[in-house]
Amino acid sequence: MTESFTAAAGSGAAHVTSGGGRVAELESSLSALIERIDAACAAAGREPGSVRLLPVTKFFPASDIEILYDLGRREFGESREQEAAGKVARLGHLSGIRWEFIGRLQRNKAKAVARWADTVYSVDSERLASALDAGARAALDDGARTAPLRVLLQVSLDADPERGGVRDDALRALADQVAASESLQLAGLMAIPPLDVEPDAAFEQLARIHSVLTIVHPEAKELSAGMSGDLESAVRHGSTCVRVGTALMGARPITSA
Ligand SMILES: *Cc1c(COP(=O)(O)O)cnc(C)c1O
Repeated sequence: MTESFTAAAGSGAAHVTSGGGRVAELESSLSALIERIDAACAAAGREPGSVRLLPVTKFFPASDIEILYDLGRREFGESREQEAAGKVARLGHLSGIRWEFIGRLQRNKAKAVARWADTVYSVDSERLASALDAGARAALDDGARTAPLRVLLQVSLDADPERGGVRDDALRALADQVAASESLQLAGLMAIPPLDVEPDAAFEQLARIHSVLTIVHPEAKELSAGMSGDLESAVRHGSTCVRVGTALMGARPITSA
C-alpha cells in the first residue's frame, strides 16, 4: 500500500525528541485522536466508544509502545513480522498487552506470528488460513498461547492481487474454512480502500459484503475499516475498529509496508 503523508500536527519528530517530549507528544495526539473518533461516532449517530482504536506502531520503537501502554492502551497493530517479534520479545511481559498483526503475511511467517498474535487481520487465502491454523494449534499445544487465534479476513475491493485481499466471490468459502478450523476463530472482515476509489463508496461496498457474511457467520462481527485519512467515512459505514498510525504516531519513513 502507499503510505499516507499526513502527519498529525506537532508529531513529526518521533525519533529525535527526548523521552519526556515524546510522552507529551503521544499524550496529546492520543487525546486528539480519541476526540476525533468520538466526533465521527456522534456525526454518524453511533455511541461514543462503539469504535475501537487500534494504534498502529509499525516503524516506531518499542519505547513508544511503552508510553502508549502507560497511557492505557493495550492493543497494538504491527505489520512486519520481524520487527513485531522484536517488540514482543521486549514487551511481551507487560500484563494484558495484545498484538494484532495487520500487514500482509507470507505463509512461511505464519507459524511465528501464530505464537504471539492475538488477532491476524489479513487472511486472504485458504493456504494462509491452513498455515495459521497449524501454527496456532502448535502454540496451543506447547502453551505459547491459551486461546484460538482470532482471524479477520481481508477483503479485496478492487480485485487487484498486488494489494492483497480475498475477492468477494471467494469470501464465503474462506470464511467457512476458518470457522471450521479448530485453532482459529472467525472474528470479522478488514479492508483497505483502493487508492482511486472514494472511501465512502469503498466502505459502503465493504459494509454490504459484511452484512451478507454475517447472515451465515454471525460471529464475524468485527469490521475493521478506516485509517488516519479516512476514519470518518469508515465510521459512517459501520466500522468497529479503526487502525491508526500516522495521526497518532507521526509520519513514518516513506516506504511501502
Ligand atoms: C500502516 C497501516 C495502517 C495505518 O495507516 P495510517 O494511514 O498511518 O493511519 C492501517 N492499516 C494497515 C493494514 C496498515 O498497514
